[in-house]
Amino acid sequence: MPQFIYNTCPICGSKSFSVIGTCSLGIVNIEKPDKVQAVKCKKCKLIFANPLPVWNKNDFSALYGQSYFPAMPTSNIREYLTPERRYKKIEKYIQTKNQNVLEFGAGIHALMAKYLYQEQHWNIAIQEPSQEFVAVLKKDFPQANVTGAEFLDMDTNKKYSLIYADSVLEHVSNPIDYIQKCADMLEAGGVLYFISPNEYSFRNWLSTLVKKMKGKPGNYLSPFTVPYHLIGFSKKSLKIISEKTGLKLVKRIKKHDYESARFIERNEGLLKYPVAWILLLADLLGWGTNQEIILRKDK
Ligand SMILES: [Zn+2]
Repeated sequence: MPQFIYNTCPICGSKSFSVIGTCSLGIVNIEKPDKVQAVKCKKCKLIFANPLPVWNKNDFSALYGQSYFPAMPTSNIREYLTPERRYKKIEKYIQTKNQNVLEFGAGIHALMAKYLYQEQHWNIAIQEPSQEFVAVLKKDFPQANVTGAEFLDMDTNKKYSLIYADSVLEHVSNPIDYIQKCADMLEAGGVLYFISPNEYSFRNWLSTLVKKMKGKPGNYLSPFTVPYHLIGFSKKSLKIISEKTGLKLVKRIKKHDYESARFIERNEGLLKYPVAWILLLADLLGWGTNQEIILRKDK
């Protein structure tokens, strides 16, 4: 059974917030509160589920089993979003000559670790909490250090020049603990890269507008329905994370995310889908559906 945190921002600790939406309680077989709302912290603008579920190991297994990834509407798109493109954005911020990457919450593919090993000849380490996936990863990456240990329990004596997390931190109720752990495991000059949904996207703005016109509440987060998102990072919340963990926020990108890429990279044709043009424009204006965050441990 998960615990629930009520009325408290998990980043800045403020108890002052406004309600911006209602979240579905879904059908997942897990204990739930009577209702869950999406709220916006008045101090740091973080968007979070209230109450915020604190998942335990069993809950994580129930939520992220074999059925999770096929159910994800974006999972097929990731194949088209090459790690190379992301790496080109990241590499110029890394200020160490070593080449050790840790991909955590890697799922079943560990795409960045795979790319860095095959194309850039890095040393790779992979963490994934699902034991089923760990078995697959060990088979696919015999050359890697693959662990199914809890991320927060990992050894901090081993240091990395890049720690990479694709769509992980929006799933946990305590992202600061995770990012602090990354800070402890980065070498000086090393970089943490993570990608996470942008709840302040054009897509959310538009869908909320449509819902409001129909007299319905806004459409943010999905704590009890796939993909189980608990929080949405804001610019100010990232600054607070930077202050608390000592990692420098060197870049935040809200362009070229999955929404327009879905149409462009799958070659479905922009003219065929007029909505793709709108999403592409939103991406270019920095209102994309995802955000990429680069934090560095300065020397
Ligand atoms: Zn806050």
